[in-house]
Amino acid sequence: MNDIAHNLAQIRDKISAAATRCCRASEEVTLLAVSKTKPASAIAEAVAAGQRAFGENYVQEGVEKIHLFRETGHTNLEWHFIGPLQSNKSRLVAEHFDWCHTVDRLRIATRLSEQRPADMAALNVLIQINISDENSKSGITLAELDALAEQVAALPGLKLRGLMAIPAPEPDYDRQFAVAQQMAVAFGALKTRYPTVDTLSLGMTDDMDAAIAAGSTMVRIGTAIFGARDYPQ
Ligand SMILES: *Cc1c(COP(=O)(O)O)cnc(C)c1O
Repeated sequence: MNDIAHNLAQIRDKISAAATRCCRASEEVTLLAVSKTKPASAIAEAVAAGQRAFGENYVQEGVEKIHLFRETGHTNLEWHFIGPLQSNKSRLVAEHFDWCHTVDRLRIATRLSEQRPADMAALNVLIQINISDENSKSGITLAELDALAEQVAALPGLKLRGLMAIPAPEPDYDRQFAVAQQMAVAFGALKTRYPTVDTLSLGMTDDMDAAIAAGSTMVRIGTAIFGARDYPQ
């Protein structure tokens, strides 16, 4: 087994263990492999080890990888855009990705919807919540969620699937859990209003267990699968 296959197996075990501890089925938690800055060869190793869903932060880099894998017949992979999105890059996301996790304003959502090609399925979107990091410019507050969700849900090129957050780094499990639970409560409320909502993208390497215990359905893991990145992002 190569390193990436080995790492993936370990992460899958950790997800199962975390799910079992809180009486959830491990199938309820999707592993998103965050492959930003990593070469296509690393992604190919993960694909060979059974990984299907990949997260990319940089539009251009992601689009190049999507092309490469589609051209080589890998049409069953799922590509998630998880980086901050500028208006001038929205078209590339709309035309190539399957998911966008970082919708946090109507203007971007409207552009993504208009730019989504008619022959593609609606773009799956998550609304990004700024749950704990006051220094971050990305994401809306929970108080703003209802209004934006209503607008996003009405856009024909988009399918509202749920919420995403990047909590501020926090070593203490109980505090991680408290933040994750705020997200889970908002997610639960959204789910009752929109039948398309089924995804809470929450949890990275250091807070994965707390996120799963609170109800995350998608964890985003990079370094623990692919190793350290050459430049910090
Ligand atoms: C980079 C990134 C991750 C993965 O981070 P690691 O520390 O490498 O596991 C997850 N989510 C987002 C939004 C990221 O930008």
